[in-house]
Amino acid sequence: MQYRHLGSSGLKVSALSFGSWVTFGAQIDEEMAEQCMTTAYDAGVNFFDTAETYAGGKAETMMGRVIRRAGWKRSDLVIASKIFWGGKGPNDRGLSRKHIIEGTRASLERLQMDYVDLIFCHRPDVETPIEETVRAMSHLVDSGRAFYWGTSEWSAEQITAAHGIARQQGLVPPTMEQPQYNMFHRHRVEREYARLYREIGLGTTIWSPLAGGILSGKYEHGVPQGSRSNAPGYDWLRERFESDQGRQRIALASRLRPLAEDLGITLPRLALAWCLRHPEVSSVITGASRPEQVSENMKAIDDLDKLTPEILQRIEEILGNRPEEEENFR
Ligand code: NDP
Repeated sequence: MQYRHLGSSGLKVSALSFGSWVTFGAQIDEEMAEQCMTTAYDAGVNFFDTAETYAGGKAETMMGRVIRRAGWKRSDLVIASKIFWGGKGPNDRGLSRKHIIEGTRASLERLQMDYVDLIFCHRPDVETPIEETVRAMSHLVDSGRAFYWGTSEWSAEQITAAHGIARQQGLVPPTMEQPQYNMFHRHRVEREYARLYREIGLGTTIWSPLAGGILSGKYEHGVPQGSRSNAPGYDWLRERFESDQGRQRIALASRLRPLAEDLGITLPRLALAWCLRHPEVSSVITGASRPEQVSENMKAIDDLDKLTPEILQRIEEILGNRPEEEENFR
């Protein structure tokens, strides 16, 4: 495993990490979650990701119990949770001071932990002043409930505003973002945040590196049995995969597969290594519903040097979606 600094912070996270969305509590039971987490841990993963909303809190409970039972040393782990959707009540969602603090307390209880290493604002909240959110997140760090805070799917403008407020008011600034990043979804990581890496040392822990499974190539002949798009409550995901855009992506995955085969690796390994190659990606959060997938995905860490400029160019030609660089008028 490689360990990378989370942006310009002193913290090191495994370049491949492991998350619990869709899977824990919705698609797989605790025994399977334990097998997946143990396989990841044995491969050197130190960073595990969850959120208050995953399976209505069950994912955190399961993750906390697995870690307890495994007896892993807390200081060897980097645990992340995310706050925004905590329930149905008017104050159970969003980024008010009240929900941020109450939501984090409840997450910690479910995880059976005194602190999380990373806490993210799961989405921007248009109804709450950014200053209120920044103060509450900064308080979480000052009170020892989290070590670093960041955002997920915030625009560069929103992150810059939050950072500026924190700096002006002597509060703890956000230092990390959790954006979607994969071969189909590139603009934010490659273009929009470019200045933030330089100017505020932003780190990124990126999600859905396989585009929910499409980049494993297994949707080529329809929705496979036992996949997340068959999980109860995830009809919307199946519809997305079966939409025109979903079909186009499945077709692109089929065109990428021979390239992976030329390199002697599988398509998911190629797609994960492609995310890992980006210098501003601190950690690629993988997901899996069985330990065999975890073992397969962890191999991607050894595939980075296979991505020569020529191979990357062949990938660009298939994808045809490279974001334009910022114009330099000098
Ligand atoms: P991926 O895009 O990598 O999708 C993972 C899924 O793909 C697996 O659950 C599995 O689904 C399938 N898969 C994985 N490996 C293989 C393989 N080797 N061969 C075949 N199929 C495979 O990542 P996720 O969408 O799960 O996102 C990763 C993590 O990121 C989440 O767990 C969560 O922690 C975080 N996240 C954060 C979000 C945010 O808003 N901040 C949003 C979404 C995720 P199947 O069961 O169908 O086989």
